[in-house]
Amino acid sequence: MTEIPIDHPRYESLITREKIVEGVRMGFTSQQGLVAQGRGEAFDYLIGEKTIESAAVAERAAVAYILLAKRPIISVNGNTAALVPESLVALADFTGAALEVNLFHRSDARVHKIIELLKSHGAVKVLGGKGDKRLDLSHDRAIVDEEGIFSADVVLVPLEDGDRCQKLAEMGKTVIAIDLNPLSRTSLSATVTIVDNVTRALQNMIHFTKEMKQDSRQSLEEVIEAYDNNEVIADALYAIQERLKQQSEERGIRWI
Ligand code: ATP
Repeated sequence: MTEIPIDHPRYESLITREKIVEGVRMGFTSQQGLVAQGRGEAFDYLIGEKTIESAAVAERAAVAYILLAKRPIISVNGNTAALVPESLVALADFTGAALEVNLFHRSDARVHKIIELLKSHGAVKVLGGKGDKRLDLSHDRAIVDEEGIFSADVVLVPLEDGDRCQKLAEMGKTVIAIDLNPLSRTSLSATVTIVDNVTRALQNMIHFTKEMKQDSRQSLEEVIEAYDNNEVIADALYAIQERLKQQSEERGIRWI
């Protein structure tokens, strides 16, 4: 990896970029994953590269859904495998959710490489290798495990494809998306939309899980009842607008 000086003003963002490039080199991430990362970086810049308040609200609601679920699952793609393998394993561990590798640009070799990567970070069991069921979709993200995503009631999909997100929601599943673009098809069709970088979102969710794990069923249900996804998406758009205004003013550009 290229050495990034710790005092660089864009340190976090550059390290994330290096991890994705390394993921491609190691064979976990597809080349298309680099482009997806670029789109994410642009939106992260627009929200100020920090967790906005409404994203933290969504992260808490997501944890409540996962803790109340009968069969929660975390879907892992090539970008998340490269960026946050240890957080994926930790969140699965703390919440009791299963892990399943699911790739848009699928090859058995890549699925197994990612399974081994997650195991090297402490995962005991990782699904996705069987691919014994298909969702009604024309691309490879349709391929899922029957005991995993196919029969799950709550699915966490960091960096999801819009079609599959819609399909999972149509199947009656609770879909939790982590997506920096508040207007992507994924964001608009999820039950809970977390507009945050996956690197921060999973860390926050681990923190909230530790806080909420002992809470009663009723108090978790209250978190969900109070949650409004439309409000969260609208707030993310408002945060982008306000940041653009502030950045413009700081640079002497009058906002019209
Ligand atoms: P959709 O099909 O939902 O409309 P899309 O076609 O715009 O999505 P994809 O290329 O399928 O996008 O996936 C990339 C998505 O993931 C983008 O919306 C991008 O903002 C988001 N993204 C990329 N990197 C990150 C990251 N590190 N954390 C969170 N979101 C990210």
